[in-house]
Amino acid sequence: MALVIDKWCKSSSPVNFEEAGCAVCGQLTLCTDLSALKNMKNYLHVLEAQSVTRAFRSSPDESISEIEGPVLDKSAGDNICNNCRSSLRAGNVPKLALCRGLWLGVIPDELKGLKFYEKMLIARVRHTKCFKGSTNYSKLVSNVIAFENPIPKIYDTLPPPKEEIEEVLAVMFSGSTKPTQDDYAHALLLVRRNVVAKALQILILNHFDYNDVVFSSANLESYAEDAPIVSVEYFQKGSNRNAEGISVHDDLNDDGTEEGDCVFTVHGIVGPSIKNK
Ligand SMILES: [Zn+2]
Repeated sequence: MALVIDKWCKSSSPVNFEEAGCAVCGQLTLCTDLSALKNMKNYLHVLEAQSVTRAFRSSPDESISEIEGPVLDKSAGDNICNNCRSSLRAGNVPKLALCRGLWLGVIPDELKGLKFYEKMLIARVRHTKCFKGSTNYSKLVSNVIAFENPIPKIYDTLPPPKEEIEEVLAVMFSGSTKPTQDDYAHALLLVRRNVVAKALQILILNHFDYNDVVFSSANLESYAEDAPIVSVEYFQKGSNRNAEGISVHDDLNDDGTEEGDCVFTVHGIVGPSIKNK
């Protein structure tokens, strides 16, 4: 028994699972497979690359410039993984190095914490249509099903007009009573206009693919903050549980969450279409 406990303690010690990022490839790696980047400073010149990085701009008056020096993830600190280190020692650019066009930079706060529908409003390329189903009984549960668009749509003006979002998103609510304003908020069906505006402005200033995007405040104003992003269909139903999926010994109530934001799963339906013979 003591042997079992001893083995468990050894295998669950932090050194066996603690991870940190590699500054060259940005990948999370076991700390035991990382070493100090400062010992490699004479090999880093191969990581210098043109048109990969971009210095952060907070206003259109600032000129567009690149970050000088080797392309590194500064947030990873002084770490380099064994794979990158051995490639650099041989004078080669590591296969997954950020300087191979994989550099993202620091994600600005304005782009963190966006909700699903807010992301829909700032996405330049739309390659799916979504159907969202929410059910509200004693608890709220939601699912999103995404279908691949035959041809992706690329927007030059963002956010897209409300009519276009209504074409690619449908929301259905079922429950014993009609959904309330609280239900809409919990089901994350409301969008925050100022959050969307700030995210788009940051992207237009700093993201290469958003250089020629036009921000439309008129389109943004068409989305109300206190009403769902698209019209919601409601139909009455007695329970949110599937009779086929319930055990005979299961006497629990409805599935889902009772309070707070209702997280949802996105089911993607993509791939080659099945042709009829
Ligand atoms: Zn690496």
